[in-house]
Amino acid sequence: MRGVMMHAPGDIRVEQRADPEIVAPTDAVIRLSATCVCGSDLWPYRGIEPVEGPSPMGHEYVGVVEETGSEVTSVRPGQFVIGSFFASDNTCEICRSGYQSSCVRRELMGLYGAQAERLRVPLADGTLVATPEVPPDDLVPAYLAASDVLGTGWFGALAAQAGPGKTVAVVGDGAVGLLAVLAARQLGAERVVAMSRHEPRQKLALEFGATDIVTERGDEGVERIKELTGGLGAHSVVEAVGTQESMLQAIRSTRPGGHVGYVGVAHGVALDGQELFFSHVHLHGGPAPVRAYLPELIGLIRNRTIDPGKVFDLTLPLDEAAEAYRAMDERRAIKALLRV
Ligand SMILES: [Zn+2]
Repeated sequence: MRGVMMHAPGDIRVEQRADPEIVAPTDAVIRLSATCVCGSDLWPYRGIEPVEGPSPMGHEYVGVVEETGSEVTSVRPGQFVIGSFFASDNTCEICRSGYQSSCVRRELMGLYGAQAERLRVPLADGTLVATPEVPPDDLVPAYLAASDVLGTGWFGALAAQAGPGKTVAVVGDGAVGLLAVLAARQLGAERVVAMSRHEPRQKLALEFGATDIVTERGDEGVERIKELTGGLGAHSVVEAVGTQESMLQAIRSTRPGGHVGYVGVAHGVALDGQELFFSHVHLHGGPAPVRAYLPELIGLIRNRTIDPGKVFDLTLPLDEAAEAYRAMDERRAIKALLRV
């Protein structure tokens, strides 16, 4: 089969790889319908995370089950399935408490490389959720978004306690930030402030339900949020970038007693204890337990209540993965879908 490999920062190649096979009796092998490039794939692409030799890439996937191991009971060949970036058993104590992305048996799907024609999925019963029928083609991008960016934005909004009567600010206008806007509105937030200075992303934020746009960032962005909230700060802030500047912008935009949901993978973030102490904010975040939300998100997509697939503003064949990475790196695309 063909699959995407990163050889070094900036060096993306589509190569022939061994076809995945059932290894454990709890595995499934799926044929991908579509996959995509993640903002977090750009960390190694830009050399901010090390690349240790040629590595398979990709952790977002939807597709049709081709084969299952002898112990798999919840999915069967022919079904259209969605999984998230961590495989999880969905039965351990941590999973049952709603933190499948910290499952005691978790496996990072990026190691298997979902930017490919086929994918082995461990712990298939716990990891994969089947849709009620094979969806029409126009719903595939939305389901693919549920595999990571929608579920991550959803967790960010939940962790920030977005809900009725709340003003929610979202730091970051990548796919996760934009979908946190959508999630906050779905969860009933009264006012959703998208922080973005890029016109096409502002437009999408408004389509997803943002009520206000703030173009300033850093301390000026914090001041704008305070101005919009009677000097208090937002009740809820989603941090969807992962840098020192974005984390401080999120904490400082939150009112005392408010909540920050941080879902940008932190790189070089260091917090001052005393500032944190006197901020009086709740901090919660980490890798999103997307698996927990898949059944609900599938329902919202299937009945066309939400269309998170709009974050894909570039579609290319798998063979043109290198261009998909370039377009995202240069911010010419919000998120690139790869047709398989
Ligand atoms: Zn578990």
